[in-house]
Amino acid sequence: MPIRIRLTLWYTALLAAILFILSLSVYSFLYRALLQEIDNTIHSHADGVVALFNEENDPLTVLISGRARIPAIDVFATQVYVQIRGRDGRVVQRSANLGEFTLPGSEEAFRASLAGRPMTYETREGGRHIRIYSAPIRLSSGQIIGVVEVGQSMEGLDATLRTLRLSLLIGSIAGLLLAALGGAFLARTALRPVDEITRTARQIAAGHGPEELGRRLQIRQPNDEVGRLASTFNEMLERLEHLFQMQQRLVADVSHELRTPLTTLRGNLDLLRRGAIDDPQMREEALAAMEAEVNRMSRMLSDLLLLAQADAGVQLQLKPVELDTLLLEVYRQALVMAGDRVKVHLGHEDQALVMGDADRLRQLLLNLVDNAIKYTPPGGEVTLSLAREPGWVRVTVADTGIGIAPEDLPHIFERFYRADKARSRAMGGTGLGLSIVQWIAQAHGGQITVESRPGEGSKFTLWLPAHSTRSSSTAS
Ligand code: ADP
Repeated sequence: MPIRIRLTLWYTALLAAILFILSLSVYSFLYRALLQEIDNTIHSHADGVVALFNEENDPLTVLISGRARIPAIDVFATQVYVQIRGRDGRVVQRSANLGEFTLPGSEEAFRASLAGRPMTYETREGGRHIRIYSAPIRLSSGQIIGVVEVGQSMEGLDATLRTLRLSLLIGSIAGLLLAALGGAFLARTALRPVDEITRTARQIAAGHGPEELGRRLQIRQPNDEVGRLASTFNEMLERLEHLFQMQQRLVADVSHELRTPLTTLRGNLDLLRRGAIDDPQMREEALAAMEAEVNRMSRMLSDLLLLAQADAGVQLQLKPVELDTLLLEVYRQALVMAGDRVKVHLGHEDQALVMGDADRLRQLLLNLVDNAIKYTPPGGEVTLSLAREPGWVRVTVADTGIGIAPEDLPHIFERFYRADKARSRAMGGTGLGLSIVQWIAQAHGGQITVESRPGEGSKFTLWLPAHSTRSSSTAS
């Protein structure tokens, strides 16, 4: 059942309960108040009659003669009837408005009154609804000489209560109907944005093109619950769109990157087929070129695989790593990589411990060193150094190479970005090295910065959070 209907039903049911209790209270309050009024009237009339008897009769005379004088009864209230019955039960006096009619007083009440107990009751005898008060006529001597019965028609009260019941019923039904309609309307209005979200989500799910992901929800009330849901949904769409664009760019980049090595491979295969295979020198050159391309492609694939893992949010297993020892290893490897072409130095080196993944940190440093050697012309220099800063460890890889133009600097960490495509490719670069460097640095809670001047050289600095155990132990 839709929330909108459930809300309306709950709301209406609650209102019905409130109206019911309220109506019941009003009804019973009014009923009791009106009844009290009637009782007051009939009681005071009965008291008046008893007083009249006492005024007109001397108790002693009555006792001796056994007869009492019966006063005339004047009743000014139209709906009040009074009759007096003697001890034998006969009606001996009645108010003028009764005419020949006798109040249908109950025998049980009559006897109770004779015994000194007044009673109030209702009767419907003769088709009329009457409330009767029956009380003993007691003289000041204590003698009970008869019973006075005062009745008042309940028809006025019944009519009032009937009208009240009808008004309450009609009022409640009308109120409930209005509330249900109003509630349904409000629930509908409040939930309409949710429907809109559902519709948009459905359209996006059913659509195929990237333009579907470009859709956004209109946010009318940004601060209410639905507004927040809509803006969260929009943020999610934004992210999805970004991921989708990244994925598309990656596929385009990868196809583009694979085209060049495949062309080289095909060209060399053609060359071999057309006779180069018989010429030892040409054959060697073609095979070497093919091997270089195959190596580059497999490097690119393993780099891509690593970045895919990074995108998937793979967590590194961090353990304490002696960074100075690691840098020394990288330095030795750099010496081999540089050969005679470039001079590699180990500059200032502090001892430093970081929490990290040793293999990944080695890969990071080797990528930086590889770039430094690649982009430094023969005779240049590459310097590695490590310094401890408060809370941080700083590793620098500086070179005296070709440098990076200021307009390229902001982009060099992007995937497949190369400042000089031809040179990078000639050097076997994949354009992914610095993306990996940046991912590894960030996965360690660190970061990588770069300073460079074209023609003078570049300096890459890696900042990693220092691991406290080693620093405190060396300090002591
Ligand atoms: P590549 O495989 O092309 O080296 P990287 O992601 O490692 O890819 O580097 C991206 C680009 O940044 C390189 O193509 C190059 O233009 C530039 N670059 C990186 N390191 C250096 C450096 N030490 N000196 C000059 N340019 C560099």
